[in-house]
Amino acid sequence: MKKLRNYIGGEFSNSENHNWISSFNPASGLEICKIEKSDFQDVDNAVKAAKDAFDEWSSKTFKERADWLIKIAKGLESRIDEIANLESMDTGKPITIAKEVDAKRSILNFEFFAEIISDIETQEFEMRDATNIVIQKPVGVGALITPWNLPLYLLSWKVAPAIGMGNTVVCKPSELTPMTADLLMRVIDDVNLPPGVVNLIHGDGEVAGSGLVSHDGIDLVSFTGGTLTGEKVATSSAKSFKKMSLELGGKNSSIVFSDCDLERTLDDVVRAGFLNQGQICLCGSRVLIEDSIYENFKKRLVEKVDGLKMGDPFDESTEIGSLISKEHRDKVSSYVDLAIEEGGEILTGLQSGKPIGFEGGNWMNPVIIEGLSVNSRCSTEEIFGPIVTIHSFSTEQEVISIANNTDYGLAGSIWTADIEKAQRVAKSINSGMIWINTWLHRDLRVPFGGVKKSGMGREGGRWSLDFFSETMNICIKDTK
Ligand code: NAD
Repeated sequence: MKKLRNYIGGEFSNSENHNWISSFNPASGLEICKIEKSDFQDVDNAVKAAKDAFDEWSSKTFKERADWLIKIAKGLESRIDEIANLESMDTGKPITIAKEVDAKRSILNFEFFAEIISDIETQEFEMRDATNIVIQKPVGVGALITPWNLPLYLLSWKVAPAIGMGNTVVCKPSELTPMTADLLMRVIDDVNLPPGVVNLIHGDGEVAGSGLVSHDGIDLVSFTGGTLTGEKVATSSAKSFKKMSLELGGKNSSIVFSDCDLERTLDDVVRAGFLNQGQICLCGSRVLIEDSIYENFKKRLVEKVDGLKMGDPFDESTEIGSLISKEHRDKVSSYVDLAIEEGGEILTGLQSGKPIGFEGGNWMNPVIIEGLSVNSRCSTEEIFGPIVTIHSFSTEQEVISIANNTDYGLAGSIWTADIEKAQRVAKSINSGMIWINTWLHRDLRVPFGGVKKSGMGREGGRWSLDFFSETMNICIKDTK
């Protein structure tokens, strides 16, 4: 059985004394590797290695660090098929998504941040008798903690700007999806990045994750994961005033007005609801439909969702893969029972069955539910699986108040021919991001993040550069 080891100070650990955590292919249920179950000593070793590497790394120019990011991007590019295969095997997602979304974006993250850090210029503000120079300095040692739904996509989104701005880091990927984090360490090792700049510890959240966040040697925490975990991370980081960014859960509305382009909207509302089996924080898991088109839209939506092909994740024609784990599948499917208790009607998805050859996996058909109150638990809590609730509305004011009636505020989408109306509604929704007539249309230069229980702070473009640095002003008085 393949064993994935920590990467600390430029070396893969050779300890056999560790406890190990088994990692499974969620589509088949079969064990695919073991990872080290790091303890506090491992965390401490990794933080020390990052601290030792800091002075030299932080003294390099932006251009020198950008060159290293490009080397890593090239290393990943040469393994693009391996990234897609490992990601599909580790997460159960369809290979087409692993290729088109995960693998491509992971490479692009390094290329993009290489480009924008190369353009950073020192700002100067002249006074009558002095000059102010504003510089961006690295923060120190960063803890980068990532979830299982987009493993390398999200890890690379943090590593690239963090080290690009001169920090050194300790990564803690999800224990459920360690494969591509290990691949990134192999690439980093192959390109001979100076030892200690990027370190990685495997392990669970309770010991390795919380040990890392609370470690005195950590100056910055970038966390992506669930809201409840985010609360623990925030409490622990705040005690020692660590710089912190939290990207947490979401419950996003897809708002469909009667004047939308019906065919395009249907396709994209299905994509927003069910891409990656609904396991994306940005997924539109509540669809709000203007009452005059409700019945027709519902009928067409159910037909489209019934037509989605669930099957072998490695088959290029598969559209729906497996959920990440048995525990998660049980949690997601418990919402179907809850929906029935809450008075909902299941329009599709109750049929059971697993693809042939994948009987041990964590499968679930895409589900659409109607008839629930917009205040019901199913309609307001994050489910993070292939379940979409549908609701009708009659006025702009009503749909705004429905969209705002959750504890989350991450994203959403609006579908209409009237762009003025769409912008008016978008501005009234309390969230970090809204797409109009599109969904998950990402420009890496724009801010990404949420409000309310969806998190704190923004990453993306210059917002990542700001988060992964400290801005300092140096004022020089003229002496003449
Ligand atoms: P999770 O919170 O269970 O785990 C995320 C990471 O935190 C894992 O690496 C885990 O080991 C670690 N962890 C667990 N307990 C910890 C602790 N006490 N201290 C420090 N680290 C700890 O989340 P998950 O189930 O892996 O991911 C799903 C969640 O992530 C969903 O809620 C989803 O919405 C959210 N998510 C948000 C975004 C975003 O950008 N807002 C993106 C992707 C996923």
